[in-house]
Amino acid sequence: AIALILLMNAFLGLRQEYRAEAALEHLKDLAAPQVWVLRDGQLKQIAASQLVPGDLMRLEPGDRLAADGKLLKGQGIIVDESLLTGEAAGVAKMLGDEVFAGTLLTQGTGFIEISRTGIKSAKGKLAHLLSTLENEKTPLEMRLERFSSQIARWILGLALIMVVAGIFYEGVAHFTSIFLFAVALAVAAIPEGLPAILTTTLALGTERMAKHNAVVRRLSAVEALGSVTVIATDKTGTLTENRMQVRTLDSPNSQLALKTMVIASEADLDSGAGDPVDLALLDYASQHGYRAETILKNSAVVSAKPFDSTWKYMRLSLEEDGKIGSYFKGAPEVLLSKSSLSQKAQTDWLEKLTAYGFEGYRSLGLATSSGESETHLDFLGLVLLHDPARAEVPEAIRRSQAAGIRIIMMTGDHPATALAVANTVGIRDGRVLLGSELDAMSQEELGNSLKDCHVLARVSPEHKLKVVEALKASGEIVAVTGDGINDAPALKRSHVGIAMGIRGSEVSKEVADLILLDDNFATLVKAIEEGRSIYSNIQKFIRFLFATNLAEVLLIVSGIILALVLGWHNLDSSLVLPLSAVQILWINLLTDALPALGLALDKNLGAIEEKPRDPKSPLLDTLSIIYVVFSASLLATAATLLFWYFSQQGNDLGLGRSMAFYILVFGQLGYVFSTRQLSHKTRPNWFLMGVVVLTALLQVAINYLPPLQTILGLSSLSHEHLLLVLGITIVLSLVSSLFSTLIKPHH
Ligand code: ADP
Ligand code: MG
Repeated sequence: AIALILLMNAFLGLRQEYRAEAALEHLKDLAAPQVWVLRDGQLKQIAASQLVPGDLMRLEPGDRLAADGKLLKGQGIIVDESLLTGEAAGVAKMLGDEVFAGTLLTQGTGFIEISRTGIKSAKGKLAHLLSTLENEKTPLEMRLERFSSQIARWILGLALIMVVAGIFYEGVAHFTSIFLFAVALAVAAIPEGLPAILTTTLALGTERMAKHNAVVRRLSAVEALGSVTVIATDKTGTLTENRMQVRTLDSPNSQLALKTMVIASEADLDSGAGDPVDLALLDYASQHGYRAETILKNSAVVSAKPFDSTWKYMRLSLEEDGKIGSYFKGAPEVLLSKSSLSQKAQTDWLEKLTAYGFEGYRSLGLATSSGESETHLDFLGLVLLHDPARAEVPEAIRRSQAAGIRIIMMTGDHPATALAVANTVGIRDGRVLLGSELDAMSQEELGNSLKDCHVLARVSPEHKLKVVEALKASGEIVAVTGDGINDAPALKRSHVGIAMGIRGSEVSKEVADLILLDDNFATLVKAIEEGRSIYSNIQKFIRFLFATNLAEVLLIVSGIILALVLGWHNLDSSLVLPLSAVQILWINLLTDALPALGLALDKNLGAIEEKPRDPKSPLLDTLSIIYVVFSASLLATAATLLFWYFSQQGNDLGLGRSMAFYILVFGQLGYVFSTRQLSHKTRPNWFLMGVVVLTALLQVAINYLPPLQTILGLSSLSHEHLLLVLGITIVLSLVSSLFSTLIKPHH
C-alpha cells in the first residue's frame, strides 16, 4: 500500500511538471521572432523558422538576423557582429557582402538573400544563446526552496528523535514499524511538493497572461510585476493607437513636400511593412498622385542616414539627372536648426508647431538640400499626423494610479503634443521635462523632479536609461517600456523590461522580461493585476499546506503523549499511535497536490486595487503565520479529542484512530476555503470545488469498500459517526474562516 501511494504521488508530481513545462513551451512559441520576406513578388510576414535558402528577407534597424545571407539591396547598412566576434564596433556592409545569422542590424534598411538557415548558419552553433525563455529559478522559487529545506531539516530531526525514543521505549524488535512511521511522518510533514507547485502556479499564471496578450519571457518577472511602483511608458503606440494618419500638410511648396514625403519614407505601402509614420506619409502622397515607383524610377540612391530616436530625423540622398540631392524628414526643431531660414522665420514655424502640438497633432518636418549636405537645408514645412489615444488606456491609467502605481510618459515627441496626449489619457500634469533639461541634472536631482513631473518629451533612449537609474536610486520598482533598438539598455536595467510585440525591434524583445503582443498599455496593467493575483494564490496554498501539515504533526505528537499517559498499547505491546504510516501517506496524497493546484487556478478580483507589494515581504507573512498556527491547532485539537473519546468507545481502539483519520482529511478540505479568506475575493473556482467534492466522496467511499478499509487499517464508521465528522468539519472551517476575516486588515 505504501509503495502504491508513493507511486501515485510521484505520478501526480510528474503530471504537474509536464503541465508547467507545456505552458512555458507555449510561451516560447508566442515570443518567436517574425521576419518579412519577399515571396511571389509580395512582402509577407512569416516566422523566422520558416525561412529557406533563396528567400529575400527585408531588414530594419533592430532586427536580429535569423539566417546567413548576402546583402542585395540597401544603403548605410551597419551590423553589430559582437555576438559572433566579440567585437562591439559596428561593421559596415556593402552590396554583395555576407551577413551572418545572430548579428544585429543597427542601421539602414535593405534586403538580403538567404543562403544558410538553421543549424547550417552561423547562429546554429550559438543557437542556445538567443531568444529562448530563460528557465533560471526566480527569487521566489529560490527563497521557497531554502525555506522548504529548512523545514525538512527540522522534520527530519523530529523523525530521528522519534526513532530513537521509539526504540528506547519499545525495543529494537519494533524497529521496522517505528522506522516506517517516522518516514511516513517525514513525507507528510515536509512540503516536498511545494517548489513544484510554485512553478506550476507561475506557469499557469503566465498562460493566463498570454491569453491577455502579455507574454512572459522571464518567470521572475511575474513576481516583480506585483511590486511595480512606477511605470515609465512610451507614448506612441502604447498609449496611442499608432494608426498614423496625415491630416494636413502645411507647406508653401506642397509639390516638393509631397515628393520629399515619398522619397524619405522607407516602407512598403502595398504590404504594410515599415514604420507607421512612413506608411502614413506614403499613403497621403499616393492619394495626391505621388507614388514611389514613378518618383524613384530615374534615380539612384547615393547614401542614407536612417531614423533614430537619438538624432530624430532621417536623410536619403539621390542622384537624379546627374545631380545629387538630399531629402529629409524628422523632428521639426532639429531640421529647422539645420536650415538656412532666418531666426524670425524659424520662430514662426516653432510657434505654429507648439500650437499644433496643443491640438494633439504629431508634427514632422520636411526639408531638402543639394548634395549630401546636412546643413543649410531648405525647410519645406510641416506634416500633421493624428494618432488617437487608445480607448482603453484612460481607464487603465486611472486603475493603476488608484493602485499606487505612478505613470511617467516618456516620448521623443514635441512637449506640446506630449502634454496634449497626457491630458487625454489622464496623466494630469502641467509640467514637461525636456530631454535637454535632463542632461543637466544629476541623478539625485532627476529622482526628485520625477516625484512630481510625469511627462518627459524630446527624450532619447539614453535619457530613458538615466530615468530608470534615477527611479531605481530613489527606491522605486520600475517597469519600463521600449520599442527601439537603443532601448535595450533601459529595458535591461529596469526591474521589469517591457517590449512591444508589433512595433518592437527584435533586440528589445530579446532583453525584455515581458512582451505586450498588442503593444497596449492596458495589457500591461492587466499583466500587473495577474502578477499580483498569482502571488496571492501562491500565498494561499502555502498557508494551506503549512496549516494542514502542522495539524498532522501536532496530532501525532499529542496522540503519542495521550497514549503514553493513558498507557494505550496494542496487542504486541507497542504504543497506540493516532495515525498509521499508510494513513499519513494517504492523507498526504489526497490533500496536498490537487487542492494546491486548484488554489493556483483561483481568479482573484480586485488585485489591482491594492498598494504594490514590498518585494522583501516574506511569503509567509505575520498574518499567515497566525492563521497557520491557529488553524492547525484547531484541527489537531479536534482530532486528538476524537481520538481520545472514541478510543474508549466500541470494542477496539481502531474507532478512535478512524475518527481522527477522517476528521483530518475532511478538516483539511475545509481549510481550502478558509485559507482564501485572507486574500482577495475570487470568482467561483469550479475546478477547486470539483477537487474538494471528489476527494470527500472518495474518502466516504472507503467506508463502504472493505478491502480499502483493510489496507488503510480503518474500522467501519456508522452514519452517525460520518455525520458527526461532517458537522465538526463545517464548524472547524467556519471558525477558521471567521478567524481569518477578523485578523485581516480592512482598508
Ligand atoms: P515617440 O516617443 O513618439 O515614439 P520617437 O523617439 O520615435 O518618439 O520620435 C521622435 C521624433 O522623431 C518624433 O516626434 C518625430 O518628429 C520624429 N520621427 C519619428 N518617427 C520618424 C521617422 N520614421 N522618420 C523621421 N522622423 C521621425
Ligand atoms: Mg517611436
